[in-house]
Amino acid sequence: MNADVDGPLIAPTRRAVLIGAERYRRHSYGDNHPLGIPRVSLTLDLIQAYGALSEPEFRTARPAMPVELERFHTREYIGALQQCEAEGRVAHRYRQRHNVGNFENPFFPGFFTTPATATQGSIQGAEVVLEGLIAFNPAGGMHHARPDAARGFCYLNDPVLGILRLRREGLRVLYVDIDAHHGDGVEAAFRQDPEVLTLSLHMDTAYAYPFEGGGVGDAGPLDNAVNMPLPRGVHDDEYRHVFGRLWPAVLEAFRPAVVVLQAGTDILGPDPLGKFRISTQLFLEVVQRILADAPRHADGTPRLLVLGGGGYHPLALARCWTGVWGLLSGRELPEAVPPEGEALLRAVDWDLDEDEGYFERLFTQRVDHAISGEVRAEVRTRVDVLLSGHPWLRGRSRIR
Ligand SMILES: [Zn+2]
Repeated sequence: MNADVDGPLIAPTRRAVLIGAERYRRHSYGDNHPLGIPRVSLTLDLIQAYGALSEPEFRTARPAMPVELERFHTREYIGALQQCEAEGRVAHRYRQRHNVGNFENPFFPGFFTTPATATQGSIQGAEVVLEGLIAFNPAGGMHHARPDAARGFCYLNDPVLGILRLRREGLRVLYVDIDAHHGDGVEAAFRQDPEVLTLSLHMDTAYAYPFEGGGVGDAGPLDNAVNMPLPRGVHDDEYRHVFGRLWPAVLEAFRPAVVVLQAGTDILGPDPLGKFRISTQLFLEVVQRILADAPRHADGTPRLLVLGGGGYHPLALARCWTGVWGLLSGRELPEAVPPEGEALLRAVDWDLDEDEGYFERLFTQRVDHAISGEVRAEVRTRVDVLLSGHPWLRGRSRIR
C-alpha cells in the first residue's frame, strides 16, 4: 500500500478484501502494447485518494509456485516461462510452441513472475471467500490463457486456478464474464466439470477476438456454457436488457454456492479495443445486481470473488474499478474525483482521440451515465434465441 496518499477515510459497511502487489507498479508489457498502461496501481492509488481502503482490507499477493500453477498449466509451459524470464529473452523454440515472445504476448521483465503473482492473487481471493469475505483481485481475470500457451495478452489463467481452489472445497461455481471478449480459456477448462457453469457476454467472435467460439449454440458437451455474443455498438439499455434476462435465468437454473465475476472494463464506451458503449454507471449497476443476488455466507456476506480482466483505457478503467471496490466494500463514494485523484489521473499519459468534453469529465467525475442504443431489436432477438434454445436454461439439461 502507498500510505502517503490518503483522503479522509470512508468506513466500509461490508467485509471485503482488496488484493494487490507492489510489483504491478513496475509492470509493463512495453510502450507499444495495449496493456502498456497503468491499471492496477492507478486503481489502487485512486481508491486511496478517495480514502476508501483501510489497512486490514488490503492483502498482498505473492508469486504462485509452479506446483500451484501446474494444477492447470503444463509443467513444460511453466518451465519455459521461467527459463525465458531468467534468460531475459524468449528462445526461438518457445515462440511457436507456447505463443510467447510475439506482439500479442510479448516478453518483458517479470513476464512470468508478474502473471504468477496475479494468479496467486486469484487463488488467495478464493481463500478469502472461503474465509467468509468478498474478494477483489483487479490484477486477475486473464481469461484467455491455455494450459500450455499464452493467448490474447494472457499468460496464466488465474480465473481457472481461482475456481479450482473453490472446487477443491466441493463448491458449485458460477463464473460470470462481462469482459468485452469471450471467456474462452475458462469455458474450455471446465467443459467436463458439471459443477461449474460459465456465463459470458461478449463481442460476437464473428468480428472480435478470439474469432471463434462463444456462439449462442456453443454450450459444450455438458451444456454448462452459456454464451451471449452481441453486435457492435451495444449501449446501456440493450446490455441492461440482456443481463437482466440472462442473470436470473442462470442463477435460478444452476443454483451456485459461489460466484466468480471477471470484471474486464473493455465494454466501457471509451475503450479503444472494445466495440460496446457501456457507461460506468451501468457497469456498476451490473456489479450491484450480482452482489445483491449472489449466494451468501451465514452473516449475509455475498459469496463473491471479483477479478479484473481487459480494459485498455486507463482512466475509464481506474474509475470503474474504484467504483467496483466501493460497491464491494459497501462505501458511498462521492461523485467528484478528489483533488489527489484528479492529479493522479491527469498525470497519466493518455489522450487517445477523446471527445474533448468527455475527456475533461474523466478527471473530475467518478461515473459517466447512460447513452441510448440503436441495436435493440437485434439484441432482443438474440436473447430470445439463447433462452429458448439453450438445453440447460430450458430445463432439460444433462447435468442437473
Ligand atoms: Zn477483453
